[in-house]
Amino acid sequence: MAGAPVIRVLEPAAGVLAFYAGRDGSRFAAEANWVDEGAIGLGIASYALLVGAEAIVYDTGISVEWGRFVRAELERRGARRLTVVLSHWHLDHVAGTEAFGDCEVLANERTAAHLARHREAIEAGSLEGPPPIAPLLLPTRTFAEREALRTGSGEGAVEVELLTLDIHSDDATVLWIPGRGLLLCGDTLEDTVTYVDEPRRLGAHLRDLERLRRLGPRAILPNHGDPATIAAGGYPPGLIDATEAYLRLLLAAGSDPAAAARPLRDVLPALPGAGALRYFEPYEEVHRHNLEAVAGRS
Ligand SMILES: [Zn+2]
Repeated sequence: MAGAPVIRVLEPAAGVLAFYAGRDGSRFAAEANWVDEGAIGLGIASYALLVGAEAIVYDTGISVEWGRFVRAELERRGARRLTVVLSHWHLDHVAGTEAFGDCEVLANERTAAHLARHREAIEAGSLEGPPPIAPLLLPTRTFAEREALRTGSGEGAVEVELLTLDIHSDDATVLWIPGRGLLLCGDTLEDTVTYVDEPRRLGAHLRDLERLRRLGPRAILPNHGDPATIAAGGYPPGLIDATEAYLRLLLAAGSDPAAAARPLRDVLPALPGAGALRYFEPYEEVHRHNLEAVAGRS
């Protein structure tokens, strides 16, 4: 059945909401489209941190309807001041920003530049195909490498750090809550495997995975992952190890055609950190795409 996705509200940690859809065979539209291929098919979450009457909204989802749903749920729970943070510029993370048109929308400078550069094509639905995102709202404030935020007031206030990394895309912003050891990682980490969109930058990805490891997260919440694991509090740090090992496997595949021909199902169990993963069959296609992307880089 195609149509508006059913959004589930999960609460992986106190005050942390995950808005989740997909990974259940449902479709957004019958014809090929970026919402199904990149998001619903693999499962997608956006997040919010709610502290008293203040909330940080981490990504705005796959549609304006998604954004409105998130906003209504947060306001129902008492939020009066919303700040949006974009994890990176990919469409399934920014399509609902119009629902937050009167809020501050925060992104790193590279995300803002990517969105501005591609705005016309995104609004026309010609960058990744349909559906268009129109109007595409751009960030209202940018930061360079790091930004500290404080949500809530008084003793219950939560300190948050936004960190810019080059993993999956060169404009990744992760949301780190040091007091809780909780990392909202955007698309820098995925379960079952990372999606390689910028194959020439795997070296940078490996370096910045090390930066993530040094943060010492106790739990990790990715935007594409298993809903039961997210609902239960997120992934262990092994997700970082598994992602690093997987990137090294992709890099080695060029000189080992036999390894490259093996399905993900067969290669995953041997990777360090694989115990953190919940194998999901549609990632076989992501794996084939990744192998081709890495083989084709020059
Ligand atoms: Zn992405």
